[in-house]
Amino acid sequence: MNSFNPQYIKIKPLIIVKVKGNSAPEGGGGKSMSMISVTLPDGTVNEYVSGITAGEIVIDIEGRKHDCVAALVDGEQKDFSSILDSDCSVEGISGFSDDGIHILRHSAAHLLAQAVTSLYPDAKPTIGPAIDRGFYYDFADLDEFGESELKTVQKKMHEIARKNIAVERVECSDSELNDLFSSNPYKLEIINDKLEAGDGSTIYRQDDWYDLCLGPHVHSTAKLMHVRLTSVSSAFWRGDQSREQLTRIYGIIEPTKDALKATMSAIEEAKKRDHRKLGKDLQLFHVDEDVGQGLILWTPRGAIIRTCLQDFISEHLTRQGYHQVYTPHIGKLDLYRTSGHFPYYQDSQYPPLVEKDMMAKLANDGCTCGELSNMMAAGDIEGYMLKPMNCPHHIKIYASQARSYRDLPLRLAEFGTVYRWEQSGEISGLTRVRGFTQDDAHLFVTEDQIANEVLGCIELVQVIFAALGMSDYRVRVGLRDPDSSKYVGESEKWDLAEEACRSAASSLGVNWSEEPGEAAFYGPKIDFVVKDVIGREWQLGTVQVDYNLPERFDLQYKGSDGEMHRPVMIHRAPFGSMERFCGVLIEHFAGKFPTWLAPTQVHVLTISEKQVEYGRQIASSLKAVGIRADLDDGDHTIGKKIRMHRKFQPAYMLILGDDEADTNTVSVRARNGDQRAGVSFDLFLEELLEEINNKVATPSLVPPKEE
Ligand SMILES: [Zn+2]
Ligand SMILES: [Zn+2]
Repeated sequence: MNSFNPQYIKIKPLIIVKVKGNSAPEGGGGKSMSMISVTLPDGTVNEYVSGITAGEIVIDIEGRKHDCVAALVDGEQKDFSSILDSDCSVEGISGFSDDGIHILRHSAAHLLAQAVTSLYPDAKPTIGPAIDRGFYYDFADLDEFGESELKTVQKKMHEIARKNIAVERVECSDSELNDLFSSNPYKLEIINDKLEAGDGSTIYRQDDWYDLCLGPHVHSTAKLMHVRLTSVSSAFWRGDQSREQLTRIYGIIEPTKDALKATMSAIEEAKKRDHRKLGKDLQLFHVDEDVGQGLILWTPRGAIIRTCLQDFISEHLTRQGYHQVYTPHIGKLDLYRTSGHFPYYQDSQYPPLVEKDMMAKLANDGCTCGELSNMMAAGDIEGYMLKPMNCPHHIKIYASQARSYRDLPLRLAEFGTVYRWEQSGEISGLTRVRGFTQDDAHLFVTEDQIANEVLGCIELVQVIFAALGMSDYRVRVGLRDPDSSKYVGESEKWDLAEEACRSAASSLGVNWSEEPGEAAFYGPKIDFVVKDVIGREWQLGTVQVDYNLPERFDLQYKGSDGEMHRPVMIHRAPFGSMERFCGVLIEHFAGKFPTWLAPTQVHVLTISEKQVEYGRQIASSLKAVGIRADLDDGDHTIGKKIRMHRKFQPAYMLILGDDEADTNTVSVRARNGDQRAGVSFDLFLEELLEEINNKVATPSLVPPKEE
């Protein structure tokens, strides 16, 4: 390259020529200027001199102290520097808006790459996108870079940000692009792809650094002061394990100092609540390489939480007229041929279990591994599959009898375990796994019953969320894309089903949104997104209407008219899976579960050997009524016992000394260390059972200490 001479660009001073109303501007020296009409967010139309920039108009609207990072021109995101020469609408994009924070993050990624390349001239920037909670940039040839180097890079970033350097968009020809990035094979690869696809590109430069990018970006590095680098990891070029290994640096940015502070403390809090860490500390679950990645071993303490939740959900299923069923973990390939899960979607499935006889025959015929693998891919094989979905099994239960309209709605529920092949890089704790148990159910209903049944599904979710203190959730209703023809089923039926989902969602009294184009091809759906106590959103499960599978399996019922009709299916797994839901709950409660879910509800601790007998008596009285109680009547000091056991977060500890033993009382210790002394054991037991039976979200048998 080397023909490129980046120059320092000063942010040019702002001159706004504006005329309110329709009178023509008085041009200096009588020279007429060409004007454009610009519609502002409040609907007013101002006249500006043609050639004004979007940023100048934003300043005119918002004042100089605005928090905008770019502009929306006729609904399209543009840099502040973009020149306007025809009538349009203009609006500022606030750094606090979703679009604005995205632009900040992406701009911060550029700043990061500039800082890294100035400190490590050999490092080659590859890609650096904005992500959900911040941004990252992947670098090649940045070896031996660790957490300790982050500080230096961050310092450099702040230094560049303070310089208030203009960020400029430059249009480039194809050959210029190739020249500019000739020393970076990664960028060249991207450029090649873009050029092949017929898409040109632009670069953005700040000072002597530049990056391939379509923008938009902030207009000055000064907008990027509130930035922090958070971690380093490795990644593969283009996510491909067979390609170069890269160093990935993560960071976060916010529009203001206060917002950054709040985000940093939320990250700290999230780290403390990480279910993978708490899962280990509290001994809730285990993943063992010898068993397999993404396959959860529920240890006794975690299994208690899962069982309690399942029992709770089951109780409500029974009340709502569901029938619980059990089905096997595998099914014949033919079953999944009918459902459409095989041979499609093999990428997300464990490979089929080929039948023994068939294997023997193939071996006899001299079939090679390559041939076998091709047959599998094409689906030309007999055997079984680990079930990726419970639906086909439940459908066969429906079809096992002749059904009449009197049987409908038929609601079949199962905590059904399914297996999916997640890429190993995607597997994480309880939330991305390869085997999981859905809180699944399938409802076979008539057209008229859809609305009521969808509502019933949603009511169940509300009850459970309320019991868990998850009052902050929203609902997304996935509808057809009006321009697509990919959907099965008649359009009038869709209208009805969509209306049913809409009205069910709106009856909730929570935030809900319509998402056109987000329906499955077989029917509209409702998704639940819950916000935990520290403000993070978790997508849980779904309720889906389905016109497709009843068709594929030729399901029928006899109507009141004596004719045969096709039922509609509703799939619902509102909490997604027990694994994911428990993962979310561990973080939501930070491991401090409500008494009804706590693996240990009461830990009984004796102060000295004199209370051993009393301790045993108390523990066995608790166990006798079904309380999960543990006893430590060992020789450690009471201080040591408390420290040892509190890390498992029992809802309560009972401290037993001479006074307690003499008067048949207990001293109740809450998780925060507050104590309530001299409580008669009978009273404690009565209150405890009430707290458990009422599923109280926060243990509250010890009143908060008065100041
Ligand atoms: Zn960019
Ligand atoms: Zn299903």
